[in-house]
Amino acid sequence: MTARGFDVVVAGGGLVGMAIAWGVARQGLRVAVCDGDDIAFRAARGNFGLVWVQGKGSRCLPYARWSRCSSERWGAFAAQLQRETGVDCGFERPGGIELFEHEAELEAAGALLESLRRRDAALTYEALDRAALRKRVPAASERLAGALWSPHDGHANPLYTLRALLQALLASGGVYLPRNTVREIRPRAGRFEIDTPAGPLEAARVVLAAGLDNARLAPMVDVHAPISPLRGQIMVTERLAPFLAYPTLVVRQTQEGSVLLGDSAEDVGFDDGQTRAAMADIARRARTAFPALAHARIVRAWGALRIMTPDGLPVYEESRAHPGAFVAICHSGVTLAAVHADLVAPWIAGGAPPADLHAFTTARFTAPQDAPHV
Ligand SMILES: Cc1cc2nc3c(=O)[nH]c(=O)nc-3n(C[C@H](O)[C@H](O)[C@H](O)COP(=O)(O)OP(=O)(O)OC[C@H]3O[C@@H](n4cnc5c(N)ncnc54)[C@H](O)[C@@H]3O)c2cc1C
Repeated sequence: MTARGFDVVVAGGGLVGMAIAWGVARQGLRVAVCDGDDIAFRAARGNFGLVWVQGKGSRCLPYARWSRCSSERWGAFAAQLQRETGVDCGFERPGGIELFEHEAELEAAGALLESLRRRDAALTYEALDRAALRKRVPAASERLAGALWSPHDGHANPLYTLRALLQALLASGGVYLPRNTVREIRPRAGRFEIDTPAGPLEAARVVLAAGLDNARLAPMVDVHAPISPLRGQIMVTERLAPFLAYPTLVVRQTQEGSVLLGDSAEDVGFDDGQTRAAMADIARRARTAFPALAHARIVRAWGALRIMTPDGLPVYEESRAHPGAFVAICHSGVTLAAVHADLVAPWIAGGAPPADLHAFTTARFTAPQDAPHV
């Protein structure tokens, strides 16, 4: 069978793969996205929807800058997607609030943000004591010790974002091949043969953005991707009257009125199910923060798997052994969607790598390891 030829083939149609593919198509290259099937693990369809910067990169300043840079680009990214597709990603950036039940936790988190701010003056935040929090968020419980607010944070509707990216990709001449899991990638004389159920593809460049399946695919281009799943569970309430103008890490109200409650972090392998214990803990934290939620009805709940590297930082790497093969991995694909489209894609299309990207190669896994960064 003759292989269909493209400039770039992207393995994986989650938020990482689609943002990169759209960005590459905007550079005028012929791009195809091979996506998995309905039973594949898909973090892009099960996440919390935060565009979050606050607290990230405490031990890796480039990650703090990378996250902030994406958050700053998100407004223009969403506006362009809307112009091209008519789809509103629901992006808002009123600043994000991290809530604390105990004074000691608030102090420790405040000290961490302050240490980041000292190293990067563009990172800003405000510490809110109990009274200041209640003034800004009247629905917050008086049992909370306080909060941290940062203007860099926001939220978006991840499903509309994915839909917008798909439509924009197609409108730019890109090709989307669903139920077309990449089985094998074979480097051949500076190009790549890609084996899929629908037949072979061939490309000058290949991008591995297959989420958890990158652990299997990356060695085919001589990159080691030590990733593992980390489950998060999320619950959604019925639609409620607006009561929360800011996203928080545990509760956020969507533009439609429903409220997302999250989120757990469980090391349970590839089990993306739900458990009563985690749901009960999520509900307790949400009710503690916003007592009115005690009366809200839960209408949906799910578990989904994050894609974690050992230190929690992303990986962006071009294979040394097989130039033209790129690997993209992260656990904040909503937050980073704008830099993936605006900065990572032009690099993959042949441009210079964005500043700060050197911090995110797999070489760091061969050096002595740090504790996880998030
Ligand atoms: C519970 C939870 C909450 C989260 N909350 C947030 C948040 O608030 N903010 C944030 O920024 N991020 C959040 N994330 C992370 C975010 O969802 C991911 O970073 C994002 O979805 C990008 O993932 P991805 O595209 O790498 O992988 P996925 O979304 O998992 O996509 C991988 C895609 O590749 C396809 N695929 C798999 N194998 C192959 C193959 N061999 N060939 C072709 N295609 C293949 C799959 O079908 C899938 O479509 C959260 C994640 C979870 C699980």
